Amino acid sequence: GGDVVSLALDITSTVHYEEELRNARERAEAANRAKSAFLANMSHEIRTPMNGVVGMAELLNDTTLNDEQKLYATTIKNSGEALLVIINDVLDYSKIEADKLVLHEEAFDLERCIHEIVMLLQPTARDKGLSILVDYDLFLPTQFVGDPGRIRQVLTNLAGNAVKFTNEGHVTLRVTGIFNHDQGICAVHCMIEDTGIGIPEEKIDHVFGEFNQVEDERNRKFEGTGLGLAISRRLIEMMEGEIWVESDEGKGSCFGFRIPLPIVEGSHGATPKLPK
Ligand code: ADP
Repeated sequence: GGDVVSLALDITSTVHYEEELRNARERAEAANRAKSAFLANMSHEIRTPMNGVVGMAELLNDTTLNDEQKLYATTIKNSGEALLVIINDVLDYSKIEADKLVLHEEAFDLERCIHEIVMLLQPTARDKGLSILVDYDLFLPTQFVGDPGRIRQVLTNLAGNAVKFTNEGHVTLRVTGIFNHDQGICAVHCMIEDTGIGIPEEKIDHVFGEFNQVEDERNRKFEGTGLGLAISRRLIEMMEGEIWVESDEGKGSCFGFRIPLPIVEGSHGATPKLPK
């Protein structure tokens, strides 16, 4: 008889244990969301005074300062801007973690987006002697419905990294797509290839994680928060897409993502000539 009793006790304690585990998990998740919400609020509060610092440092430069003073004002402005980039990353990341980030969808021109990003990166690339190439599939429409700000953010992160981690050669932005005529949706496929330093095999699984930079603290050559790719991954997932990377250390990397985007009615690429 004793066996039956102890078995019954075991079952009830298992039930209790599972309930406790569930409660603990719920409490941990709530605490995590609260932490993210706190970070998001704080980042927002830091941004406003920082904009003041940057703006005023900019104005100082227009006054009759001597060269040395102008250098100080420029340093204040540049440091402030660098800090704002970090704050924006932390703000975005904590908003995503707190489930507070919303996508704003509208009709936009993807090809124009790509060219704007190239123009933005061109000066840095030129300084390093790199060329940036764009290969936008001729048969792909240019007008889609999606969140252009967030898509631009992902593309800027990937293409910016490609330029940052490449010392010679080129960076290519390639866009193709697979049409679903019945649904009016296109699976848009963007690839960012570089001929840069590449990513070591043992590190490649971690690049989309938070605060994961390939160099460790001691020998860091590159600036950055290590949040860019984590944010990009979450944004692409929010858009119901996929993101991935392939890399050959010393040869280069290729980051790619695929997102389903509705096509704007009447926006077509070049009409393919079908064989009769
Ligand atoms: P960071 O702000 O450091 O650039 P990211 O999340 O954008 O943060 O990237 C994380 C890390 O992944 C980088 O620090 C770098 O080590 C590696 N990485 C990203 N893109 C590339 C690339 N195109 N080539 C080589 N390494 C890269």
